[in-house]
Amino acid sequence: MRVEVDRDRCEGNAVCVGIAPDLFELDDEDYVVVTKDPIPADHEDVAEQSIAECPRAALTRKD
Ligand code: SF4
Repeated sequence: MRVEVDRDRCEGNAVCVGIAPDLFELDDEDYVVVTKDPIPADHEDVAEQSIAECPRAALTRKD
């Protein structure tokens, strides 16, 4: 799987970084970037959790 970020929605609150620090980080402008593409199979659960818990619905699964 892959995870796509909608930068128009992301507000940089780092909820996803807290859930999955191996997959997400904030750039210099406080937008999230996905650091693993594709997402490793053993990280798909936390990726799904991050998608579900993003308060701005800025993350989307792309198979
Ligand atoms: S949880 Fe959502 S809004 Fe917050 S940094 Fe991650 S993608 Fe952006």
